Amino acid sequence: MNLIAAIDRKLATLAAHSLTRRLRVADSACAPRQVVDGRPMLAFCSNDYLGLAAHPLVIEALREGASRYGAGSGASHLVSGHSRAHALLEERLAEWMSPHIEKARALYLCTGYMANLAILTALGADLDAMIFSEALNHASLIDGARLAKAGVTVYPHGDVEALDKLLAASSASTKIVVTDSVFSMDGNLAPLPELLALCERHGAWLVVDDAHGFGVLGQNGRGALEHFELRSPNLVYMGTLGKAAGVGGAFIAAHASVIELLVQRSRPYIYTTAAPPALAHALQASLDIIGGPEGMQRRAHLAALVDSLQGALRLKRWQLAASSTAIQPIIIGSNEDALRAAAGLHEQGLWVPAIRPPTVAAGTARLRVTLSAAHTFEEVALLAGALNDIERST
Ligand code: PMP
Repeated sequence: MNLIAAIDRKLATLAAHSLTRRLRVADSACAPRQVVDGRPMLAFCSNDYLGLAAHPLVIEALREGASRYGAGSGASHLVSGHSRAHALLEERLAEWMSPHIEKARALYLCTGYMANLAILTALGADLDAMIFSEALNHASLIDGARLAKAGVTVYPHGDVEALDKLLAASSASTKIVVTDSVFSMDGNLAPLPELLALCERHGAWLVVDDAHGFGVLGQNGRGALEHFELRSPNLVYMGTLGKAAGVGGAFIAAHASVIELLVQRSRPYIYTTAAPPALAHALQASLDIIGGPEGMQRRAHLAALVDSLQGALRLKRWQLAASSTAIQPIIIGSNEDALRAAAGLHEQGLWVPAIRPPTVAAGTARLRVTLSAAHTFEEVALLAGALNDIERST
């Protein structure tokens, strides 16, 4: 009884600070127009940036993958769960990343969260290694750094000079700089060219979490490394496949020796059942689209939607974050105001999540608007109008 009472007290504290999160149940496929908790909604909250989660060719490939390989993998990769579908996907992703990483090899993992744990625990396996972690990094990188044996130093957001000083002062045996490429709650880009130059100068690894860049950034959708035209043996790249690629899982691309170390030593890769091979098979269809003319059209439409949203917003007190990506957060401030704004939108059938601490810093609660190539200009105009009205009336 007391055990439950203690938990309930924690939950009550969350509620008192407007920090209770609410699960909503989607009754239909991830798409701008969906049924949520039984009600039709227009959604601006997924990371399905290219609209591939409900793409007929991807769904068909998933079906075909399940027919060919079955529903589940049955075991972890090193036991018997590594299927031809996984291997083919990894070969293709390695080839995709080979302009950016020498002797590139790729590894497919169940989630981006696990991929980040895998990278940081393997590279940071020694007590005298040091992880230099960007202040706004995603929770999975923070947890990966915590789980690693290496020490951890957090450097200020986007501050290349501060990082330079920290690297110069460090006597760590292995230095690992780790950053999101597109910051998930702000939408801005990390200064990757400058970070890579620093890492090369200091003999450090640069681990890039491109969860929100893969599929979206770069001429061919190959992500942040293509966008910035980077190539280096110091790069370790993580791209997620449940966001722009519309399916699930993630991949790590790095020099073949790094990947071999992960296969041999990385617990989040070794000690878990391999993702269903059908997902890997479906991802081939996603990559066909991302890398082909349709992907280019979708990226161009997405960029035009971002421009149209920015052009239509007339915010006075709230602040649109300085972002040119599909993540267009509107900073409101207090948790209560952010929740009220999200509730106001929800009443009008618009689904935009309020993001609060600890996901973002206290006092910077926000509406995290995300756009998708599946949206229309009319839908974006509807959202902008509703946001302008709600800001005026609160
Ligand atoms: N990194 C970043 C920056 C993310 O935003 C996310 C997902 N929100 C992840 C990693 C984790 O990826 P996954 O959802 O595939 O676990």
